[in-house]
Amino acid sequence: MLKPHSDNFDVIIAGGGPAGASAAIHLARGGVRVLLTEQKKFPRAKLCGEFISPECRAHFERLGVASEMIASGPALLDETVFYSSKGHHVAVPSKWFGGRAAFGLSRAVMDEVLLRSAAANGAVVYEGASVTEPLLDGERVVGVRVKIDGSSRDFRAPITLDATGRARILSRKISSGNSKRPSLVAFKAHFRKTRVAPGACEIYFYPGGYGGLSTVEGDTSNLCFIISAEHVKRCNSDPETVLRECVMKNRRAAHTLESAEVCSEWLSASWERFGRQRPSPAPGLLAIGDSAAFIDPFTGSGMLMALESGELVAQAILRHDSRTSLEADFTAGYRRAFDSRLRICGLLRRAAFSPRLAELGVAICGASERFRNRLARATRAQPKPDKFLPHNSLLE
Ligand SMILES: Cc1cc2nc3c(=O)[nH]c(=O)nc-3n(C[C@H](O)[C@H](O)[C@H](O)COP(=O)(O)OP(=O)(O)OC[C@H]3O[C@@H](n4cnc5c(N)ncnc54)[C@H](O)[C@@H]3O)c2cc1C
Repeated sequence: MLKPHSDNFDVIIAGGGPAGASAAIHLARGGVRVLLTEQKKFPRAKLCGEFISPECRAHFERLGVASEMIASGPALLDETVFYSSKGHHVAVPSKWFGGRAAFGLSRAVMDEVLLRSAAANGAVVYEGASVTEPLLDGERVVGVRVKIDGSSRDFRAPITLDATGRARILSRKISSGNSKRPSLVAFKAHFRKTRVAPGACEIYFYPGGYGGLSTVEGDTSNLCFIISAEHVKRCNSDPETVLRECVMKNRRAAHTLESAEVCSEWLSASWERFGRQRPSPAPGLLAIGDSAAFIDPFTGSGMLMALESGELVAQAILRHDSRTSLEADFTAGYRRAFDSRLRICGLLRRAAFSPRLAELGVAICGASERFRNRLARATRAQPKPDKFLPHNSLLE
């Protein structure tokens, strides 16, 4: 049953992943009345590489969740190693992105810490509450309809955030563009007894896609891979067959996964495209996280972008006054922050899905550390000085 909260808020956030939850924390701390509505009940497993890039730690500090993340016992990942099909490899140290290790932490844990923190900071959080459609006043979004416990309820706010991830539930309902057939499928499961190098996130290229293997908390490794829908069809849509027939065509993957045992359910998802959507699809509606742009997973920076855009939207809302357009202000800030890296990733994408180009890319990057460093950093914002980070030896 819904608690008897008011139906009126300052901001409604649809989706409680890292984008929605982080925006909720920043806004609630700024005194904004926030409703966050999430379709699942947390903790829940989530299809993801679970590589939390080093820059996320500064966000966790600002969100007040850094010590809880550390207490969850994440694996510390010092480097990402890219393996071509033939086994040639090149490493990108995590310190290039801010001087510290990345975390390997399951999304079940990370997302729950953020969602509970949103509630602790004063946001009203409903779980098991699915947003079904925007409420409209002309073209303006003035709230959402939410399905919970089998019945619908309307909530109103002058600002609504679409943070429903790649589903883009609200943005899709507003824009009438045709959706394409999904051309890519991703799978994820947790494994024991892999031979992944400790402290490394390993990325494997193979015909039709690429995948990542790294340690998360405990003695578990997370394997997450992407592959063309055609390859999946040829393998009767069975993840273990795709793993054997496609992923393990990569020599390094064949070695690390030879005796691995799956210890979770397989999750899968399909989608039609990467790249940026409209940060403000309609007056009163702003999109953040994957709803605004889906950056290629080989960058390991989707969660970073979710946290960055959650913070960006909160800043735009908190400084907004009636003399300016919130939608225009947020869109301009969004483009400044993300367009350049999204363009670079668009260029690198071709290599990621072609074993020959991936082989060449690994060779070129291996030949010049300077080039590799510049390319890796171009997939991110330039690191900011750590002015927000108090010294904490646990974070070193
Ligand atoms: C194969 C793959 C591997 C990846 N690996 C990595 C990685 O290693 N590192 C990394 O940083 N990024 C990775 N990413 C990207 C990362 O997962 C996303 O960028 C990140 O989850 C985006 O966060 P978000 O909050 O925008 O969306 P999500 O995390 O998708 O959260 C959206 C939330 O909205 C909820 N929701 C959906 N519909 C509704 C609705 N109707 N009503 C209410 N709630 C709803 C969902 O249940 C979900 O909890 C990967 C992505 C893929 C596909």
